[in-house]
Amino acid sequence: MTHRLSYRRYALEFRVPVRTAHGIWPVREGVLVRLETPGGDVGYGEAAPLPWAAGETVDAIEAACRRLGEEVDPAMLAAVPAELGCLRSALQTAGGQLPEVQATSARPVAALLPAGRAALPLLGPKAEAGFRVFKWKVGVGEVQEELGWLDELCARLPTGGKLRLDANGAWDRRTAERWLDRCAERPVEFVEQPCFVAATEGATAQQKVEDMLLGLAGDYPTPVALDESVQSDRDLARWLAAGWPGFYVLKPGLMGDMTGGLAALRKAGARVVFSSALETAVGARAALHRAFAWEGEIHALGFGVWPLFAEAALNGPTATPFIRWQDVTALNPEAAWNALS
Ligand code: MG
Repeated sequence: MTHRLSYRRYALEFRVPVRTAHGIWPVREGVLVRLETPGGDVGYGEAAPLPWAAGETVDAIEAACRRLGEEVDPAMLAAVPAELGCLRSALQTAGGQLPEVQATSARPVAALLPAGRAALPLLGPKAEAGFRVFKWKVGVGEVQEELGWLDELCARLPTGGKLRLDANGAWDRRTAERWLDRCAERPVEFVEQPCFVAATEGATAQQKVEDMLLGLAGDYPTPVALDESVQSDRDLARWLAAGWPGFYVLKPGLMGDMTGGLAALRKAGARVVFSSALETAVGARAALHRAFAWEGEIHALGFGVWPLFAEAALNGPTATPFIRWQDVTALNPEAAWNALS
């Protein structure tokens, strides 16, 4: 019984270029896939790797789709190599293999603050809008200056409010220790990816930083979160085996087959934050579906990123303090697919 596979490669300008630790990111590239069963059921998925991630590229995804051809056996879909985690995730979604969602109560969303001093005047209005968790990019400017702004931000937090600090791997050990020292007595939910070395820089260098992260997580009361360190199902398995005690920030669209990993996280009582990889409505729907299916403790979602694109049909749910299940099911993958034609 063959399925019909089609795909559309896209390059979409962000409404506002995204500033990251890797520089300015102006255009999101990826591939949407469409899978039709012999019975006429149609599903969509999105494969959109992060451009700085090692390994999987949009070219490689497109080439793999071309190789699969128009008429595919479901067994062939399962045989897509593990290195193409985004494509595996997209095909799984398009094939309707998503976990069941039991609890559909609304999930809180973290508000995104800009890096640097620009965060200060925005925290108040976002708190007034109803946000309680605020994410601030650090490791961008001078440490001393940023630590000063940290205190100003803490002073502006609403009752019960918390900050998430994301360093995107920018710090060395000493800087990370300075920050974690400072955070100890402050309402900081976690410090995300204080240090990072990519696998492409060699196994020894990577091991050294991963040992350092484990050390930092053990030495300070403020939890440490992994993000760049967990960008595939294989990374996740490695950190689970290492007994990572901190948070996991997971971008479902990058993670290949998460089924086993999520079950293991649940069993370990791990703290998980589901997060966007700045995808279109197709990937957003799948990633949010997986976030709603999570039965562990709920932490504010990292999905307060849309609208990212000019075309409304391509955006995930607009950033608000809560995402409801009906906001997820209202996303229309077919409309997103048609918007690319
Ligand atoms: Mg991050």
